[in-house]
Amino acid sequence: MATLRLGRVLGIPVEIHWSILAVVALFTGNLAVRALPVYVPGADLRWRLVAALVGVILFFASILAHELGHSLVALSHGVGVSGITLWLLGGMAELDRMVPTARAEARIAAAGPAVSGVLAVFFTATSVIGFQLGAWRLAVAVAAWLGFVNLTLAVFNLAPAAPLDGGRILTAALWRRMGDAERARVVAGRCGLVLSVLLVLAGVAQMMTFGPLEGVVTAVVGLFVFQAARTEIRSAVVRGRLRATPAATLASAHPPSMPDSTSVLQLGQWAGTGAGWDTAFPVVRWGLDPVGYVVPRLAASIPPAQQSWTRVGQVMVRSENVDRIEAGATAEDVLAHWDGDRSRVAVLHRGHDPAPTATLTFGQVAPLLAWPDLWGRDRNRPEPGVRTG
Ligand SMILES: [Zn+2]
Repeated sequence: MATLRLGRVLGIPVEIHWSILAVVALFTGNLAVRALPVYVPGADLRWRLVAALVGVILFFASILAHELGHSLVALSHGVGVSGITLWLLGGMAELDRMVPTARAEARIAAAGPAVSGVLAVFFTATSVIGFQLGAWRLAVAVAAWLGFVNLTLAVFNLAPAAPLDGGRILTAALWRRMGDAERARVVAGRCGLVLSVLLVLAGVAQMMTFGPLEGVVTAVVGLFVFQAARTEIRSAVVRGRLRATPAATLASAHPPSMPDSTSVLQLGQWAGTGAGWDTAFPVVRWGLDPVGYVVPRLAASIPPAQQSWTRVGQVMVRSENVDRIEAGATAEDVLAHWDGDRSRVAVLHRGHDPAPTATLTFGQVAPLLAWPDLWGRDRNRPEPGVRTG
């Protein structure tokens, strides 16, 4: 996203996305030209614009305060915040890792709407007191507007549908009941899908009733919620699979070894007979201990003309570069270790016994990364104990 760094607040980098300018212009214009003349008849347009602009800036400050609410509670639970971005549809605080417990999830989520609720009370009280004291009418009207939008922010965000804060609170409640964070996230994500459809329908209804401009924001929020809910569901399903799958069920146990003088062409022909394109085969030179491991699918990237004279010893992953992973690890542990590098090879071993029991490659884990359908029904989740690699 094209963003502009505003600075740091409480040590957290704050950025604004250019799309915010559209909202500032839309809200300022709407407030100055349509709303304020109703409450303060006869006010000069220039002063209305100034009051509206200050109001909109305070509105974004309120959103920032909401995100800081999430961030501070996250930090207190040991979850780092890599940054806060303000954009078209509000704010986003990016947590640098998964929230560890259902309790932390609920508290981090509730903190944002709580801040918005407090701000709603504060601005409403300010406008009431200002009105009683006969303060500048435009300021009183803008404070009342700020009270209203903060209340809207708190209530809307409490809708029990991911990715909204209420969806995270729902996730925490289900997580506690079911004991499974990923399944809880899928359910909250489905609620998000339902909410997104309702929002788009409401937006269309608004457009047909009040004119094209009125419903656009609602419909766009609906589309955003749809996208985000879909991402929540997909990543929860994939994470659930990775967590539920022992690496050993994906690995190749004791694959046959081959001499390092074998050509890549021979390796490919052999793999084609069903030996396994994604299996890492030990490569031996003089003795029995492998000097490296070769994966037919990775070796196949050698240009065909060179495959007959390129030897597997030249394209193998050398033994010292192979990851040694405890056989009890999950697919999630292995991928975290590889950090997106598709060319890594791991050997599994049991406890203190250094002898490798199996080899594992990215290609053998990759089927678990396939996306589920929109609703998050998972046909790829392997049954426990069934070998898929
Ligand atoms: Zn929030």
